[in-house]
Amino acid sequence: MTVTATGVGARIPIASALDPVTLILKLVGDVCNINCYYCFEKRKGGQSDDFDRISIEEVRSALDLMGDRPVAVHLHGGEPLLYGRENMRLLLAELSARDTVTAIQIQTNGVLLDEAWLDLLESSTPAVEIGLSLDGDEQHNSYRVNFADRQTVGQVREAVDLLCRRSLPFGMISVIHDRNVDDPDALFDLVSDIPSLVSLNVVPCYDQGTAPREVPSGNKGLLELIDASDGSVGDSWAVDPQAYVAFLRRFTERWISEGAYRRFNVEPIMSAVRRRRGRAPRMCHYSESKCGHIYTLYPGGRFGSCDELPAANSLLAHDVKKAAATTLDETWATPLGRKQLQVISAPLDECATCSAQSLCGGGCMASRLRMRAVDRAEDYCGYRRAFVFWLDGIMHKLEAQDA
Ligand code: SF4
Ligand code: SF4
Repeated sequence: MTVTATGVGARIPIASALDPVTLILKLVGDVCNINCYYCFEKRKGGQSDDFDRISIEEVRSALDLMGDRPVAVHLHGGEPLLYGRENMRLLLAELSARDTVTAIQIQTNGVLLDEAWLDLLESSTPAVEIGLSLDGDEQHNSYRVNFADRQTVGQVREAVDLLCRRSLPFGMISVIHDRNVDDPDALFDLVSDIPSLVSLNVVPCYDQGTAPREVPSGNKGLLELIDASDGSVGDSWAVDPQAYVAFLRRFTERWISEGAYRRFNVEPIMSAVRRRRGRAPRMCHYSESKCGHIYTLYPGGRFGSCDELPAANSLLAHDVKKAAATTLDETWATPLGRKQLQVISAPLDECATCSAQSLCGGGCMASRLRMRAVDRAEDYCGYRRAFVFWLDGIMHKLEAQDA
């Protein structure tokens, strides 16, 4: 049996001693101040977290476990600003003092962001890079609601204005779901008008077959999402892979033809371009550096691989302080770690004979596991092939024009 990054029996590579890694800090677990319908924390399985904060000792242990690897730290939740300003100040001091920490990013829903928070986030070394979550205008952002089922779009637009007033470069994540997938022009027009935006990630909501851990309280509009055929609740917002390809194509065309690539980066387009050019993609979906390069720490010391994976398949250690006495490689070498690696890596078998492998890079293991569970693995790969071969054709044409 061949053991390569993508052959039959392949395993996701584990970060070698000096490989850069990402450490996601779930500062308050899955606790949030808003109540998005499609929140991926609500459909990952396991119990919802009590309100608890990651301690500085736990962060130290997780960084020790990363060894000498350069670490990009991502501050996540739930909502990471619920960590509180004084706790954040202590955390940023700890991260600033670590030579191995090369970048600090925060992903916030923006509702609590204000001048005082920005002063604090800008004061660390390196300064914290800010990412907001917004899916479009009022209609397209309508899954992102508060606990009274009210839209949050106005508050997020205030955060956008605040960042622009301070000329602070920031990124944005837009989830692509059934309500915005058919209108890529609306999202493109919206983001093109934001002067401080430097990066955008258009993330497909491949929630097929998932269900929230509990029906979000306060979501009165949930009734309209109930699938009448089987009465289930939970994946009505999922995006169809072919619809997402059409979205990506239109977005790419405008991003290139209008020269917007000079102003802001768009993922996954840029990573697909970089892979096509033989350069290292930034995004794990297009890279061999996947779930063995992305780690997550939860309050209470739970430590595992990428937080996109189901809780049961990502756990590597119940107590990061104990795990820190070993090495990252050793956490994967335990019976639990070996089992996780086998489960997470299983979809790579299909890449072994795939004609798109050199352009695609294998996609996201979490999405592929979800799609496999509902017998739609081929739909996922169909989207990957359709996009990377289409992009390859576009790049051939551009290269021919330049020649
Ligand atoms: S689960 Fe997906 S997003 Fe997470 S590291 Fe693996 S490939 Fe990347
Ligand atoms: S299209 Fe599917 S099988 Fe082919 S390389 Fe991509 S993820 Fe693997």
